[in-house]
Amino acid sequence: MDALAYQRAADIDAALSAAQQPGAAFIGGGTNLLDLMKGGIAHPLRLIDITRIAALDGIEALPDGGLRIGALVRNSDAANHTLVRTRYPLLSQALLAGASPQLRNMATVGGNLMQRTRCGYFYDTAFAQCNKRAPGSGCAARDGFNRMHAILGASAQCVAVNPSDMSVALAALDATVQVRGPNGARAIPIAQFHRLPGDRPELDTTLAHGELITSVDLPPPAFAEHAHYLKLRDRQSYAFALVSVAAALQLDGRRVRAARIALGGVAHKPWRASLAEQQLIGQTLDAATLRAAAATELAHAQPLGDNAFKVELAQRAIVRAALQAAGGAENFADNAFGGLA
Ligand code: SF4
Repeated sequence: MDALAYQRAADIDAALSAAQQPGAAFIGGGTNLLDLMKGGIAHPLRLIDITRIAALDGIEALPDGGLRIGALVRNSDAANHTLVRTRYPLLSQALLAGASPQLRNMATVGGNLMQRTRCGYFYDTAFAQCNKRAPGSGCAARDGFNRMHAILGASAQCVAVNPSDMSVALAALDATVQVRGPNGARAIPIAQFHRLPGDRPELDTTLAHGELITSVDLPPPAFAEHAHYLKLRDRQSYAFALVSVAAALQLDGRRVRAARIALGGVAHKPWRASLAEQQLIGQTLDAATLRAAAATELAHAQPLGDNAFKVELAQRAIVRAALQAAGGAENFADNAFGGLA
């Protein structure tokens, strides 16, 4: 391990000031950063410990009816908080689908947003080619073993996926990431927080160096009644998603008034399925309608050598998650999965 300095910040201003030093990095739960450091992938010169900053902790209702979740709130605490469970069950489900109980007890909401891809070539420094780890070196995954990789929004430079479950739910819920930096505060819509790889795959987010996530804000709850997070993975626990779907609906009977669908495991960022959402508005919800909307969304998928199965899996997952959100497939018996899920 490299030599590094450690500094505990007492408040946000102290943390921001310390972050101006060369090679500085914030550390909260450390569940990803320490792995990256031990693997020789991240090389910070100074760790700024933000875990004692009270202003970054806690969950509070906002005047507009929304909810503010502090960046330091542990994933377990967020998932089990009464206001999250009752007003934003989609987020609670997604958080509980992530990692393991031990990791959820340690990992913070801010850290979850910042976690880096789990592409095996990124984590294994024996592979020289990885544009995310060493810009300009190439991408070993594109022609390598890419079963877990992206089918949407990838580039020639990188085909990695974002590993977060929480962020998929936040994308469906239109959350806002509040940050503070040397130039003041700003609010970043979640859709603009994570980025597609393009020709700068080393950048996972639009956060500038030295900026600190202070909270995640949720708009007033509008999708508590019909919401479901579906995660499909190789084993039932402690595995990253092959495909996941955050589905939330507003229904008038069986007619769709509003739809929110976001996908995980398919792109470099949580993938908001806007085409599918638009196609569902005003439609009578059934498996065939959902299947058609899902097909529209996945029409431009570009699978790699080992992950073509994700194109079909994502479509089936959208159907199943939306039916579960609506009230369970048993309530749509005439259109029940029918081999679609
Ligand atoms: Fe690196 Fe991205 Fe290619 Fe993986 S997919 S090897 S992270 S450049």
